[in-house]
Amino acid sequence: MRELDVRRQSDSARRYLDLAAPSSALRTTLFLAAESVTYPVAAVNILDEHEQHTLISVGTAPPPPQPRSATPCDVVVRTGQPLAISDLPTRGYPQQPCVGTAAARSYIGIPLVGREGLVVGTLALVDVAERHTTEQALRRLVQFGSVLEEQLDLLRRVGPSRPQTDVYQLAVAIDEGQILPYFQPLVHLATGEVVAYEALARWHHPTRGVLPPAEFIPLAEDSELIIDLDLAVLRQAAVVAQRWRQTSPELRITVNVSGRHFEHPGCVDRIHDAVTASGLPPSAVSLELTETAAIAASPANVAFLDQLRALGFRIVLDDFGSGVSTLEHLVYLPCDGVKIDRSTAAALHTRSGAAVVRAIAGLAVELGKTVVLEGLETVDQAERALELGCMIGQGYLWSEPQPEDVLVG
Ligand code: C2E
Ligand code: MG
Ligand code: MG
Repeated sequence: MRELDVRRQSDSARRYLDLAAPSSALRTTLFLAAESVTYPVAAVNILDEHEQHTLISVGTAPPPPQPRSATPCDVVVRTGQPLAISDLPTRGYPQQPCVGTAAARSYIGIPLVGREGLVVGTLALVDVAERHTTEQALRRLVQFGSVLEEQLDLLRRVGPSRPQTDVYQLAVAIDEGQILPYFQPLVHLATGEVVAYEALARWHHPTRGVLPPAEFIPLAEDSELIIDLDLAVLRQAAVVAQRWRQTSPELRITVNVSGRHFEHPGCVDRIHDAVTASGLPPSAVSLELTETAAIAASPANVAFLDQLRALGFRIVLDDFGSGVSTLEHLVYLPCDGVKIDRSTAAALHTRSGAAVVRAIAGLAVELGKTVVLEGLETVDQAERALELGCMIGQGYLWSEPQPEDVLVG
């Protein structure tokens, strides 16, 4: 293993050292893994550049960190291959901890691959007795290793050192398909035609009913979970849109995308794959950048947005007019349109409210961008929006966000 590889592996491993308290699910898997080969002790070990850390163990208390080079797990991490040793002391590992103060004689190590695709540690089993390991036992442990990898990934998405709160539940909810897109129409103000539907996330909570985004998006925004959540909504909305387009080929969908995607180099591919898995072309999708004010017009962000647009996506700056720095974004962020925030729609009847809409719409149109005003609740407001230069409206005037089956049925 080259030095650079060790460093990358170590960076990835360290992210697992900062995890939320290991879940009881992890403990159960570890216990079952030990039972399957009748070993008394099993552990998940994470190896950084220098040390081996036991994240969780069954059959004995987790030992303190040990120098990495003195452990057989080091070999497993370096080679990425399972390893079974029946005589640890004679193989150069005289002091491997087992139950209490006894040293272990037998060892099995299974590599665990982390989120970055690198081996970050091991499922390790030890016994004071000399044991021989069959191929079949090793295969079974490799399967337990895969389960542990998934459970670790779930903890990882929950974020650093958090108690198991709603965030954990939310991660499970995303995986189990409890987060669903509801759809609200976007209407061409001059013709009254529905031109698109915005997908808005709803959590079908097993005990609390249907929860609006305010109950879970801030939680998701605090961790990497927002990325999985957005992609889950995008994926499902694309499937629905692809179906609708069989009868309305011009129909578009718009989906909310957090600025946090742009912290990750693979974000463009992930977004693209989530859409095209359904067969929907990216050209049918607008991505609404939420919390636009928080997205810097940095070269990296500009490059991501350019790449998305080159793939056919349209980029819309959401909640426009609600922040302070957003006019600048209209000029510097590559985008196709703006959506004026509903707090502005509510002030349309005032002189200053109308002036804000007219100014934003004027600038946007001059720059060749579409202008949507959201939060329209009355016919008066819709007429006023059209007069002030907005092309498209969205709001309870036409419909609240609805599940797909209500819209169709
Ligand atoms: P948004 O993208 O600006 O969506 C518009 C919000 O205004 C929606 O709230 C919609 O239900 C509400 N709305 C639409 N018309 C009217 C109206 O006439 N009157 C009033 N009072 N409200 C109206 P919702 O669905 O609660 O979503 C809130 C926010 O949560 C969204 O604001 C968006 O920023 C965020 N969000 C929703 N789904 C997702 C998602 O999948 N990913 C991300 N990152 N954010 C999401
Ligand atoms: Mg939106
Ligand atoms: Mg908005």
